[in-house]
Amino acid sequence: TVRVRIAPSPTGNLHIGTARTAVFNWLFARHHGGQFILRIEDTDLERSRPEYTENILQGLRWLGLTWDEGPFFQTKRLEIYKQAVQTLFEKGLAYRCYTTPEELEALREAQKARNEAPRYDNRHRNLTPEQEAAYKAEGRNFVIRFKIDDDREIVWNDLVRGKMVWRGSDLGGDMVIARAAADGIGIPLYNFAVVVDDMDMQITHVIRGEDHIANTAKQILLYEAFGAKVPEFAHTPLILNQEGRKLSKRDGVTSIFDFKQMGFTAEAMVNYMTLLGWSAPDSTQEIFTLEEAAKQFGFERVNKAGAKFDWAKLDWINSQYIHNMSVDKLTDLLIPAWEEAGYQLTGGRERAWLDQLVTLIGPSLTRLVDAVAMSKLFFVETVEFSDEATAQLKQEGSAATLKSVIAALENHQLTETSAQEIIKQVVKEQNVKKGLVMKALRAGLTGDLHGPDLIQSWLLLNQIGLDKPRLIEAV
Ligand code: GLU
Repeated sequence: TVRVRIAPSPTGNLHIGTARTAVFNWLFARHHGGQFILRIEDTDLERSRPEYTENILQGLRWLGLTWDEGPFFQTKRLEIYKQAVQTLFEKGLAYRCYTTPEELEALREAQKARNEAPRYDNRHRNLTPEQEAAYKAEGRNFVIRFKIDDDREIVWNDLVRGKMVWRGSDLGGDMVIARAAADGIGIPLYNFAVVVDDMDMQITHVIRGEDHIANTAKQILLYEAFGAKVPEFAHTPLILNQEGRKLSKRDGVTSIFDFKQMGFTAEAMVNYMTLLGWSAPDSTQEIFTLEEAAKQFGFERVNKAGAKFDWAKLDWINSQYIHNMSVDKLTDLLIPAWEEAGYQLTGGRERAWLDQLVTLIGPSLTRLVDAVAMSKLFFVETVEFSDEATAQLKQEGSAATLKSVIAALENHQLTETSAQEIIKQVVKEQNVKKGLVMKALRAGLTGDLHGPDLIQSWLLLNQIGLDKPRLIEAV
């Protein structure tokens, strides 16, 4: 059975790139009825933080990317890595290297002077026990290196990129797999811990960003060293910004919750991320749930080229989800946005009223946060009048019109029908065009000449007792 994993390092919040990798892993697992495993790669003790782990877990949950096993934490598995290092020692495939940072620096300088790429020259590969003892006596620190022969050929059939061929000589010499530790076995490094975990967790397909391709070449050698089955690899394209460079912090958003903050729904985010590098067999289909996408997902339709981040498309997808959402769910999502904006949900602004408001403005929303500006007039006591609205209210007939409306409100219980009647009556009384009544009303009630349906807005304001005072203030 298919077993895949997402293996974020908790050195920052859940990043859009990691989230997209998680989406592809999730889709692939579901497509094949397999398992999706979550592993937290927290061996970088200096940069890892529990709050980042929390952010990653919450972000995945928010997106609906539920995992079947885990989270596993690498820091809880150190014994397993030590065992694995021991195995490589026993096989004669690993050794302790005592080269000092200064010596490595000198080596790099010399290579640079000869215009060569920096690489470790494997100088401590065959130390005698006496030499090792001497270095130890000098008080030198060590790292543990894994032997990589220059003439090794590494070939894999990448599920996205096709046949990949690397040579041992591309990998910079014998690789460091662990750093010094008191017991002489060491703290594992990324490339090593990943392989040990992926073997142990029986991962069948490693799906990750293309920035890991060079790591894959190294990791394949490790699988072979352990005599383990090498998993399949799929390297997904990077997410690019408008300039075609890797999407980064400088683009304003990186963390998934930044997108939530901007008013994108979880459903729209996963839908959009699904399309970042993948397209459905019917490429005109762009709206689907994770489950629907999973039915069709496969690497044959994942692009090699980088995926440009397209805000207009994300906005469009988001609006589709908002417009097709039940009023009840949309109200649930908007309440926190209103609360965050400091709006008081009091004074008659009960659930039923909020639902009506959502029915009114929902179809005009692109992002959830648009509701804040769009519904401000329903939450403040008095509105500010736009220049246009002020001009409208000064126009001949406006004030008289509004006075008639105010008078009519005295003996009418406002409903959709009575509102229409009042307008008709005022048109007659004042002998003005209906258009003028509507404009004056809108200006007086909302402070603007544009906005959601006037009658519905009026009804909402009436229910919380704001219509009359506003009209009085406007005349
Ligand atoms: N911890 C690595 C990362 O966050 C995992 C890469 C992998 O999937 O192997 O980039």
